Amino acid sequence: MLLADVIGHPQAKRVLQNAMAEDKVVHAYLFHGPAGVGKTTLARAFAAALLCGQGVNDSCGKCSVCKRVAQDNFPDFILVSPSGNNIKIDQVRELQKGVQYKPYEAGKKVYLLNQAESMTTEAANCLLKILEDPPPDTIFLLTAVNQYNLLPTILSRCLSIPLSRVPLAQIEQMLLKNNLGDPTTAALTAALSDGLPGIARLMAESGDGLVARELVFDLVERLTTGKINELLKTAEELEKRKEILPDILEQLLLWYRDRLIWLQTMQESLIVNRDRLNQIKECSGIVSKEDLVRSVKVILEAKNQLNRNVNLRLILEVMLLRLAGTA
Ligand SMILES: [Zn+2]
Repeated sequence: MLLADVIGHPQAKRVLQNAMAEDKVVHAYLFHGPAGVGKTTLARAFAAALLCGQGVNDSCGKCSVCKRVAQDNFPDFILVSPSGNNIKIDQVRELQKGVQYKPYEAGKKVYLLNQAESMTTEAANCLLKILEDPPPDTIFLLTAVNQYNLLPTILSRCLSIPLSRVPLAQIEQMLLKNNLGDPTTAALTAALSDGLPGIARLMAESGDGLVARELVFDLVERLTTGKINELLKTAEELEKRKEILPDILEQLLLWYRDRLIWLQTMQESLIVNRDRLNQIKECSGIVSKEDLVRSVKVILEAKNQLNRNVNLRLILEVMLLRLAGTA
């Protein structure tokens, strides 16, 4: 993909393109921002631009180098991703061996370390050694959700490229351009993606986002009535939808967010679930702002616990019982 074709991130693209045009590319970059924001997409487009050599500040997208970089099949482009949960020491040792060799075909070599924050301590220390004495003609591109999960000594050796959420209209356009849904679904998916093109794409491709959304509004109704038996049954049902549970919680959060925003601003344009505006207006005033804030916290807590290996059913039950009556 061309840098120019990556959606969003105008500032980051400008920094990268200026560096290429002015021959001021540094040896390590860290792309950081929320999951799905486009870190790897941008890093990969930058890698192609560095290796292609046909353009001043972008790749051509057509030559054999560009095509092979896109297919992970170019010897001077090395992608390192977590093996299991971590980037392990063996993977970085291999990289350490590799950097001693000159580029094969392009004038330089590019290493892309995906989810660099997943490096084990040993792996991180080994990478640090490499970055302290950077080999010539070698560029390291790291991605991380949270830059502060990396060793400060690694951070200080990378040029930071912060990426923030992409305007929803651009995500909607991207979905339509890629035939990922009709105009109505594309608009809704873009809104639900919360400015994260990768998430929008996943939701559009899997249809999970829309399934999760249906379930959320079903859940909201049950929470309104707040019958304990019903809620326990819901927890049991949700436990079975484990694969889309993160989506469900995300959308439940959006529901509470919308209601808080409405209570505070009364601005329709700020509401994500715009097709539910009547419902949002109707329940505004019934539940206090404090209760809504508390509910958001309850969901965030459940979200955090999901990431650890705690009893799933228990988390869901506690969450639903605490949310009862606030939906
Ligand atoms: Zn090219």
